[in-house]
Amino acid sequence: MALDHHATDRSGHGAPLRIGILTSGGDAQGMNAAVRAVVRTAISRGAEVYAIYEGYQGMIDGGDRIRRFGWEDVGSILNKGGTTIGTFRSKEFRERSGRLRAARNLLLLGIDRIVVIGGDGSLSGLDLFRAEWPGLLAELVENGEIAPQIAEAHPTLMIAGLVGSIDNDLVGTDMTIGADSALHRIVDAIDALASTAASHQRSFVVEVMGRHCGYLALMSAIAGGCDYVLIPEHPPADGWEDRMCAELRRGRAAGRRDSIVIVAEGARDRAGNPITSEYVRQVIERELDEDTRVTILGHVQRGGVPSAFDRWASTWLGYTAAEELLAATPDSEANVIGIRGNRMSAIPLVEAVRQTREVAACIERADYEEAMALRGSSFTEMTKIFRELAEPSRVDASDCAKRIAIVHAGGLAPGMNTAARAAVRLGISRGHTMLGVRNGFHGLRDGEIEEMDWGTVEGWTADGGAELGVRRSVPKLDWLYSISRSLEEHRVDALLVIGGWNAYESAHLLYSERERYPSFTIPTVCVPASIDNNLPGSELSIGCDTALNVLVEAIDRLKLSGSATKRAFVVETMGRYCGYLALMSGLAGGAERVYLHEDGVQITDLVRDIAWLRESFAAGRRLFLAVRNENASENYTTDFMARLLREEGGDLFDVRQAVIGHIQQGGSPTPFDRLFATRLTSHAINLLGDELAAGTSKGYYVGLMGSKVGASPIAHMMEHMDKEFRRPLDQWWLALRDVSKAVAGEAH
Ligand code: ATP
Repeated sequence: MALDHHATDRSGHGAPLRIGILTSGGDAQGMNAAVRAVVRTAISRGAEVYAIYEGYQGMIDGGDRIRRFGWEDVGSILNKGGTTIGTFRSKEFRERSGRLRAARNLLLLGIDRIVVIGGDGSLSGLDLFRAEWPGLLAELVENGEIAPQIAEAHPTLMIAGLVGSIDNDLVGTDMTIGADSALHRIVDAIDALASTAASHQRSFVVEVMGRHCGYLALMSAIAGGCDYVLIPEHPPADGWEDRMCAELRRGRAAGRRDSIVIVAEGARDRAGNPITSEYVRQVIERELDEDTRVTILGHVQRGGVPSAFDRWASTWLGYTAAEELLAATPDSEANVIGIRGNRMSAIPLVEAVRQTREVAACIERADYEEAMALRGSSFTEMTKIFRELAEPSRVDASDCAKRIAIVHAGGLAPGMNTAARAAVRLGISRGHTMLGVRNGFHGLRDGEIEEMDWGTVEGWTADGGAELGVRRSVPKLDWLYSISRSLEEHRVDALLVIGGWNAYESAHLLYSERERYPSFTIPTVCVPASIDNNLPGSELSIGCDTALNVLVEAIDRLKLSGSATKRAFVVETMGRYCGYLALMSGLAGGAERVYLHEDGVQITDLVRDIAWLRESFAAGRRLFLAVRNENASENYTTDFMARLLREEGGDLFDVRQAVIGHIQQGGSPTPFDRLFATRLTSHAINLLGDELAAGTSKGYYVGLMGSKVGASPIAHMMEHMDKEFRRPLDQWWLALRDVSKAVAGEAH
């Protein structure tokens, strides 16, 4: 939204607008990123920002608990867990007398706009405060605590809420601040437990947070490749203990060496009785007669560094909240800013809180169907997918059992194994025979195809790399005959292609050669897996979240390495001609400059940047970070930029360049990449199944557009692409350039 450069008070006095910001309730990783973004966006728009320490209690206490913040007050907090301005569960704020004092303290400083980052409790407190505001003001005037003119100048309290909660329990936003980092903590723990459990053939029961919300439990069970999960919204039917143990036994019989059951802290049975992790342990120990251990993850889930997502998304949320608040008028609706389908969305605060509380109420009155419905369709879908992935002997009788081959191609992307595992297990459970093609289209040409069973893919969820092998090569015309023979010989009925640009090109080629080679006329679906995030039909691709997290960790380390001196870094990311990794790692890593091929690099920009940099280091700056996409400019290379800075920086600062390189393709996939790979692959297997059942043979590529997973026809694959630079013509994330500029203090 458009704002005057200098946001001023509408009372006509020309005084700058004043915003207060606080964090309340349980802390969550990413709160700091949001605070930083609110502060910097507001300052860059000419407003004044006050940080309110220790949540609502700080507002009641006033004094030095409400401090004016400058740009540097939020320096170096982006990578920190918790909330540096503190949080509190204030009993006094629940009383009108407390809120009266809070209103007085705000008015004394001329603050009538506040951003609150907290859970549903904090947000309903905020709504109440706003509703009472005129009455509180009247009382303060009557008591003689504030002058009538002050009350007249601030007749309404304008508010914006951001949801900070690791539980991801707010209805109306896809993700709450902290949930992704909490998943990182849990999945790391599950990976660690899985290796020790497998060594001893042991069972583990892992308890995760979530009193009324099974999000963390369900998603970590899928991402961790676990065997059973118990969540509050979907209690198991009577006799679940026997079914659970039977499933664990079948898992062992099918090749698993460990069993892991995830229990949400609010898990219950159909009668509403709590299911504790200790009870689950006793059941397993008794029935399976084996050593079973409980691990309660507890507050570890709240701790640690925020994930890349929790940094860039919270930065975007904070930016949007500040913009919204600066543009607010007394008539504006009170909103919670959430994220839906990779877009910012404003949800009426009252409605969001009401629906969130409704889920807990549904669980209390045992209306589990409604509770699941309120969680949304993808939550229900993931519950079903989990069951299929975890149950080894499950086969839905199919009238059209067919042979589906999986092939990887393009560059390696973390999560390819997760996708292949999901394909094999979901395919088998739907009655198909699953075939793995080794070494990409090379292997397809040479007939390197073998059947895969449920146990073949055991343990693949967490593994980076691609067990099936992957090649970049696109089939040459003289390969086509061999490929067609190979498809015939192995009686391949359908093809699942998981990979990057070259995988898509290959699928497109086979599709366009269908007339000459009838064996290519089989259902074909492409699944996007590329760290570059440059594929058609999907706003994200499998692997790019892992690459981003690797980059952000590398940037954190680089920054630390330079913290004892005055230093400028030029960091180069991968991405080919797509700037996704560069921009998002710049945002999540706190870069002052990001150079993208989409924008190009002009010498005038570099000259201006250097002037700003010299000035800024002379004024006390200690660190500068520029992130550059590997192809941002043909001639202004990373090396050139570093030398330029070195030459111009003189004695003011030293310069280092860091080409992060192939570690971006390595590493265990993040929870998001594992979940995303599972969700997309499930969709792809459904599509193939539908085509096979109908006897048709369309070709599709699947992807996430907004909040929905959908499919587009292969025939039109290249229509929305910039073929020269191999990236989609429309890239949603470019909207974040404005956010990056607002929080980086660029001299624009
Ligand atoms: P979490 O999800 O981590 O529990 P939360 O924001 O829901 O976070 P709460 O303890 O419910 O945490 O609320 C935090 C604070 O918000 C309370 O301590 C209180 O100061 C304020 N608050 C909550 N509910 C109300 C209310 N109904 N009226 C006034 N203030 C409230």
